[in-house]
Amino acid sequence: MNPISDALLTFKGIRLYATLLKRTQNASVDEVRHMQAAWLSKLLQHAHRNVPWYSARFRTYGVRPDGQDPFAELAKLPVLTKQEVRENHGEFCVAGAAAKSLKFSTSGTTGEPLSVYTCPEQWKYEQAAIWRQWKWAGYRFRDRVAIFRSYAPQPGQPPIKQDHLRQWSYFSVFRMDDQDIAAYAEYLMRWKPRFLRGYPSALLLVAQHAIRHGWRLPTLKAAFSASEAVTPELRPALRQAFGIELFDHYGQAEITCMFHDCERHEGMHVDWEYGLVELLPSPEPGCNRIVATNLHNTSMPLLRYDTGDLAEGPFVPCSCGRTAPVVRAIRGRKDDYLIAANGSRMSTVNLYTYFSKLQQIRKFQLKQERPGELGVSFQLWGTPDSAAHAALASRIRTELGTSTGLEIKVADHADFIQTGEGKFPAFIQRIRT
Ligand SMILES: [Zn+2]
Repeated sequence: MNPISDALLTFKGIRLYATLLKRTQNASVDEVRHMQAAWLSKLLQHAHRNVPWYSARFRTYGVRPDGQDPFAELAKLPVLTKQEVRENHGEFCVAGAAAKSLKFSTSGTTGEPLSVYTCPEQWKYEQAAIWRQWKWAGYRFRDRVAIFRSYAPQPGQPPIKQDHLRQWSYFSVFRMDDQDIAAYAEYLMRWKPRFLRGYPSALLLVAQHAIRHGWRLPTLKAAFSASEAVTPELRPALRQAFGIELFDHYGQAEITCMFHDCERHEGMHVDWEYGLVELLPSPEPGCNRIVATNLHNTSMPLLRYDTGDLAEGPFVPCSCGRTAPVVRAIRGRKDDYLIAANGSRMSTVNLYTYFSKLQQIRKFQLKQERPGELGVSFQLWGTPDSAAHAALASRIRTELGTSTGLEIKVADHADFIQTGEGKFPAFIQRIRT
């Protein structure tokens, strides 16, 4: 997305928060249900008319797009799997959607990339819901935010980058050994951020460094995390290091539903204006599958999509008094660390992001056997082509080697390791820590 449309959509999201989401976090369940019914009804009619997959499925399952009770009509459809979306991708996209949509790619933890088109309207709700959580944490426009997420400097670029409009600073999470963080700390103590934002693994490294070396950031108000599971040591580490609380975010690149952690930190509030969430039984004791329908995405509606993630327990009220309910916790985004040659750890999320952008790859798997090294296996779409495979292997070695500092070993042929449960994990960590 170019910076101007990004800023414009963010602004529209903030306006949507002010005109709707600020109020609906406290609206009655009946009122919200009523609004969801109107959105869902519109979406079903749109999907029936314009989305080939649904035109056919509605006939098969007797779904009436203009039925009186859109929830009952939706429930006639079976749960949709990621596999079905990947294998029938074109059938889910509205004609011409690519030109007027935002495109997100995900590999998830299975190493099988999937791209999803999202219309600006759904993205506006995304921005509004995120803004709402930032308000819960006390954020004000142009408060300084230090971000430890996806910034991967290319050769010659500095490890810290600034966005002067928003007053955000980005720090490379590929360079997080003790010396790197010491340099970041120096910058942060001068710059005086109000908020930290990043992958839980990166925030933990920063907090642990601050505890070990005794540096503080007294201007901090809170931290925001996303994209990985919050490990049990993170919240206490942030309290000990900086005296701040963590506000977690859950969402997926498929843009079907979101959850946010409020100032009480009792669980994750569902953003019920954004997606319709069903909690369905799972084999995991005490957990429910998160199945969701994006309520506003007219570019690529996903109805009853199985996110592959699990909610702990049912929906319950939160003591903050907001009517949007919470689930105790969300599981399924557990992520591993890579170990650099000097023993420091780095998140694997950026690697997934990198691979999800290589559209010619059908499937990949990463494996680490020794610190400082990374094994890569991948398979291309279409008939095997050893020249194309070798060319991409060489590109991956250079690009990933540069951004991570690891020695990249690409296998000549795709040889994927399957777990006892039949899964092909995207990342296999063989180093015991
Ligand atoms: Zn709450």
